[in-house]
Amino acid sequence: MKQIWLLPDVAAGDCHYGNLSDYEVTGSCFDSLGGRKRARLMEGSKKRRKRYGGAAQGNRRPLDGSHEEPMPLPNPMIGFNLPNDRLRSVTRRLPQQAIGPPFFYYENVALAPKGVWATISRFLYDIEPEFVDSKHLCAAARKRGYIHNLPIENRFPLLPLPPKTIFEAFPHYKKWWPSWDPRRQLNCLQTSMSSAKLTERIQCALASSGNPPPKSVQKYVMDECRKWNLVWVGKNKVAHLEPDEVEYLLGFPRDHTRGVGKTERFKSLGNSFQVDTVAYHLSVLKDMYPNGVNVLSLFTGIGGGEVALHRLGIHMKTVVSVEIGEVNRRILRGWWDQTQTGTLIEIADVKSLTDDRIATFVRRFGGFDLVIGGSPCNNLAGSNRHHRDGLEGEQSALFYHYFRIVDAVKSAMGRM
Ligand code: SAH
Repeated sequence: MKQIWLLPDVAAGDCHYGNLSDYEVTGSCFDSLGGRKRARLMEGSKKRRKRYGGAAQGNRRPLDGSHEEPMPLPNPMIGFNLPNDRLRSVTRRLPQQAIGPPFFYYENVALAPKGVWATISRFLYDIEPEFVDSKHLCAAARKRGYIHNLPIENRFPLLPLPPKTIFEAFPHYKKWWPSWDPRRQLNCLQTSMSSAKLTERIQCALASSGNPPPKSVQKYVMDECRKWNLVWVGKNKVAHLEPDEVEYLLGFPRDHTRGVGKTERFKSLGNSFQVDTVAYHLSVLKDMYPNGVNVLSLFTGIGGGEVALHRLGIHMKTVVSVEIGEVNRRILRGWWDQTQTGTLIEIADVKSLTDDRIATFVRRFGGFDLVIGGSPCNNLAGSNRHHRDGLEGEQSALFYHYFRIVDAVKSAMGRM
């Protein structure tokens, strides 16, 4: 199988936190563990890992992973298996220390700087990441890595199956689609939108050239269309997708993010899970938990994980959701109140979810069945090199809280 290697340069075009000049940009909230505090946390986790017989020696290696072997990315990026792909049957054996309870599911951008995934994998009990580009399941690309300890046999997809091409999703765009635009799928949906000026510039460039336009004009237009996921809405006229179209492509119910500003909607949607992809992985829980699940949802965002479970018909008895963005919390709460009967407990900051609080929740609910979340990738992805400081970046280092919390749940449940 052909393999490509993790190079920072290939990250462009697929990421959280988009920016007007760059495809992607880094976020700005600086709020993380200080170096010394992190060292202490790592020391603590090392002890705990020893108790589990985990790969504690790994902690001696640098945390930024700069001396790690790069992790090869599969090509095609289809994960362990895809819906309806009966030909391949992959089995995997999890390392002993990785086996739950609880089940956990971690997500981040596939194209992170060198060594990042090796480090994440080492902290998450040496589980091999499952890299999937959502373009194999829906009409938009989204290259993500998932580390989880779920079984991978007998997965099933959400129904109805989502559209796999632009024209399946939005047939009315066909009318204006020029023959020289070969796109049939969209690129990774981003956190920001293109400007009206760009639409105007493209319209001018096309109006002043023949039909078909010269190759140089085609190239200019195609580059911008790919970068911004522009669609043809009139003669020579392109436009960015509307938030409800992005919701649809990502598998959210219509108007899921409605009621907050457009910029906020794009930002939250651009950072979210692709629901069909995540649901496919989580589908194995359905038979295991006929009476429902208790979920600890970290970095919940707009609730891609919760929507996936709901669409699978898995009842959520309790969700303890940790999300710092007030707008995101409002979106999740709005959806929850309309669709759920279980209990939603909201916490703002992962840092305030201490090991003691975790132990209390575990006693109260009899444990968590699933710990799910994707920590921010602001320092991992993007073409802005200055901010791509790897896992030690202010935001990306929140990953260590994910690990700390899973580990705390594991040990609290071990004491039950
Ligand atoms: N998987 C989610 C989105 C994850 S993006 C979804 O489907 O929508 C990462 C999220 O982490 C963002 O929503 C961001 O607001 C949140 N976040 C950032 N710092 C945080 C912190 N310290 N505590 C909790 N959440 C945080």
